[in-house]
Amino acid sequence: MKNANRLRLILGDQLSFDLASLQGLDAQSDTVLLVEVMEEASHVPHHPQKITLIFSAMRHFAEALQQRGIPVQYVALDDPDNTGSVPSELQRWQALMHADEIHVTECGDWRLEQSIKDCGLDIKWHCDSRFLCTRTEFANWAHGKKQLRMEFFYREMRRKSGLLLNGDGSPVGGAWNFDAENRKALPKGVRPPSPARFTPDPITQEVMALVAKHFASHYGSLDAFDYPVTHADAQALWEYFLDWGLAAFGDYQDAMASDEPFLFHARISAALNIGLLDLRQLCSDVASAYESGSIALNAAEGFIRQLIGWREYVRGVYWLKMPDYADGNGFGNTRALPAFYWTGETQMNCMRQAISQSLEHAYAHHIQRLMVTGNFALLAGIAPSQICEWYLAIYMDAFDWVELPNTLGMVMHADGGYLGSKPYCASGQYIKRMSDYCRGCAYKVSESTTDDACPFNSLYWHFLMRHGDRLRGNQRMSMIYKNLDRMAEAKQQALWQRGEWLLDKLDAGESF
Ligand code: SF4
Repeated sequence: MKNANRLRLILGDQLSFDLASLQGLDAQSDTVLLVEVMEEASHVPHHPQKITLIFSAMRHFAEALQQRGIPVQYVALDDPDNTGSVPSELQRWQALMHADEIHVTECGDWRLEQSIKDCGLDIKWHCDSRFLCTRTEFANWAHGKKQLRMEFFYREMRRKSGLLLNGDGSPVGGAWNFDAENRKALPKGVRPPSPARFTPDPITQEVMALVAKHFASHYGSLDAFDYPVTHADAQALWEYFLDWGLAAFGDYQDAMASDEPFLFHARISAALNIGLLDLRQLCSDVASAYESGSIALNAAEGFIRQLIGWREYVRGVYWLKMPDYADGNGFGNTRALPAFYWTGETQMNCMRQAISQSLEHAYAHHIQRLMVTGNFALLAGIAPSQICEWYLAIYMDAFDWVELPNTLGMVMHADGGYLGSKPYCASGQYIKRMSDYCRGCAYKVSESTTDDACPFNSLYWHFLMRHGDRLRGNQRMSMIYKNLDRMAEAKQQALWQRGEWLLDKLDAGESF
């Protein structure tokens, strides 16, 4: 009897040899299909380095599969027969190959998954086993809960994975979470390691030329591309972090410093999110480093929490709440995203630093994203859809399942407080405490209402005043509102006026 002729689609963020839809592959009768499509590369103006990473990693992965004797059909972006979208390419290849079965692993983007489901083909879907928690498991955990809490989900994942647990199931060190020990600013004299860089090989150089030709209008530098595009190089990046970054990562993961885009961060999120690294292996390596005594518990726990706690949690929320989640706008924001998000042309040094490095490297770490660019968007009342698009476009590691809950839920608090119990709003004082940005700034962080006052300060109080009806009832905000209420009326008015003046400038399309 003839074996079924199977077509196995691999998407650009599914470059894992143990991907569920590659399991049971028969090299005699099955074909793996990889397609570079314009629709996925341009539905938002993705950073040129992000497109380069994905196309180059796809090409390297296809080559590695072929070296293992697996038949591969690869459709390059400029292939004249390329129809430009994943569903239309699937239809074309199903017809060309007379495929009996089509296997696809669940996508990282609701829009794409829906378009494949709607394309009229009979697809055999596979759970994405690269994650610790399936969509169904998360839905079961969330069932009946009015509000979700990452901390409780994280404990479930610790139990499920067995990471950092004593024999009796209790957490190592007597606590589940050592976040309070992960908030140090960078002291003078502590220098981070130079970042590991990977020189583009001929395949990557070819992709860079293709990207330069087709995506010249997208924001961001292409020249600085130095990211790993193979499993071996991603592993080298990871080992570099284990050797040089991890021990200090715990202490300084929230710190920011001028002209130091990477500090002690691993910079592995893009490689992990496209499948070049394995979540379970990373966590196991970090736990082993702790058990061997080479790193402190706060470093190990902080890193593992990001991976099996927050990362899995936001994915669960995304699939539980899409597609309605994307429309969340709890504060009713309508303001357009300022043009300086795409250029870095602002006198606010913190914003200039965070945006410029994002344009140069397609990277900023979580506190720059949450407490600088995100905090400003929250305080300024930017429309959530516009800031979400910016994050999705600009960061190399941004895929919809991870970007949307992080931006719309955590940064903008636009989901009505489903993902987080309070908005992460802060004045310039937080940025001063966690960075050296204010020292090189045109504005004075110590001032709130003068012409040279830090814009974050008045916008912070303006945000609290204009959303008082909604936020005063939040217990976690009560101290902040007590401080506001203790403020003299004249001071409140001055803050409001300065905030209004700044917002008017944004509405006029002006930078400051
Ligand atoms: Fe940012 Fe304000 Fe500090 Fe300038 S003074 S760097 S705008 S926080």
